[in-house]
Amino acid sequence: MRIAVIGTGYVGLVAGTCFSETGNSVICVDVDERKVQRLQEGHIPIYEPGLEELVSKNVEEQRLIFTTDVDRAVRESLIIFIAVGTPPGEDGGADLKHVLTAASSVGKAMNGYKIIVDKSTVPVGTARKVASAIAAETTHPFNVVSNPEFLKEGAAIDDFMKPDRVVVGTDDPRVAEIMKELYSPFVRTGNPIIIMDVASAELTKYAANAMLATRISFMNEMSRICERVGADVTKVREGIGTDSRIGMPFLFPGCGYGGSCFPKDSRAIISTAEELGYPFRIMKAVEEVNGEQKRVLFEKASAFYKGGLAGKIFAIWGLAFKAKTDDVREASALVLIEQLLSAGAIVHASDPEAIETSRAVLGDRVKYFDHSYDALEGASGLFVATEWNEFRNPDFEKMKALMKTPVIFDGRNLYKPSTLAEYGFKYFRIGAPGVE
Ligand code: NAD
Repeated sequence: MRIAVIGTGYVGLVAGTCFSETGNSVICVDVDERKVQRLQEGHIPIYEPGLEELVSKNVEEQRLIFTTDVDRAVRESLIIFIAVGTPPGEDGGADLKHVLTAASSVGKAMNGYKIIVDKSTVPVGTARKVASAIAAETTHPFNVVSNPEFLKEGAAIDDFMKPDRVVVGTDDPRVAEIMKELYSPFVRTGNPIIIMDVASAELTKYAANAMLATRISFMNEMSRICERVGADVTKVREGIGTDSRIGMPFLFPGCGYGGSCFPKDSRAIISTAEELGYPFRIMKAVEEVNGEQKRVLFEKASAFYKGGLAGKIFAIWGLAFKAKTDDVREASALVLIEQLLSAGAIVHASDPEAIETSRAVLGDRVKYFDHSYDALEGASGLFVATEWNEFRNPDFEKMKALMKTPVIFDGRNLYKPSTLAEYGFKYFRIGAPGVE
């Protein structure tokens, strides 16, 4: 099939690449000329495991091209995916300006029947707005489909190539068949392609992210209760996750969820509900708990250093909002760094992939280190904010020798208190006894 993908970010680039991997001819379009030029030169603008190899393979086999020329992409394609950003607007609702601009440009370029697929996460009713934006520019026939994306950054290729399910929102059975054909190579093990009405598909994406965010905030609240009663949330997690009605995934307490999806989508569904006169009480609480959770490490440190944090050096391990990505949008580490800087502390940060993306946000108010141990030199404490594998079994002896005072505030519960006690560290965890 001939496919265009508008927007070559985390979702568009992965989707376009994976569609080309299954034999389709894919044209990826972006308005960011620099990004397109870099892609044409073979540079991948984001860190995503496995992506670089897959892009270069499909470019070489001439199934995947990058351009800023949206007209050409639309003219040469039957199916056009819109995968541009939907950042939060001022009222918390999703800002649709990029989606609607993309829709108009599709409309202007149309030269025959097209299927336009909303891949971006968009509120209920957006497919109708996209259809109006296209219809304002063309008399050619078209269908608008909702096909939300569920991939996780850090495992995006795997998630896209082997999705748990594919959700397609359309009322047209012929379009449903074409979408099924497109996705059939990805569900060969029998995972379902679920066809539904457009509104249900649009809402499904928000419902999924809202549910996952709820599990995290639930466990974070549970961790605070654990701390007050002297219980261990890691044990409670095991105890409830083994219940088949509950399940293990997404029960890790931590220093708050971040990323480009959970915070934005939680706020957007609250805003959609509010517009409809319905107060989404659970999600409001989920968001509030998450905001507080992003202060927990800072509060633990403020309570520990009796003389205050000003003038002290603190090391941060992990800047990305989670492991295996360079994405720092709404990352807990960045919130923590702002708190430390406001308290007058000096921040030395390290991350395997997210230094450049962090520098773009924080500038040079922070000193960055390519090697995580270098960030520890002279530090009064270490904050672990991202669960990168390389932080899981570090050389504690070496760490202790580098640090001014051996103290760790662990936002991801990576270490065993007994090990840290042996090495003479003070150790603070989330919702579980440490070494105090
Ligand atoms: P992103 O910011 O990484 O990429 C968006 C891209 O769209 C940018 O490269 C931007 O230059 C481009 N763009 C903007 N307007 C354009 C236009 N008119 N024409 C062409 N290109 C344009 O965003 P993302 O993280 O890939 O997210 C895209 C959408 O997918 C969002 O709605 C997001 O909520 C959703 N989503 C994201 C993830 C994720 O993990 N990142 C997962 C599932 C769904």
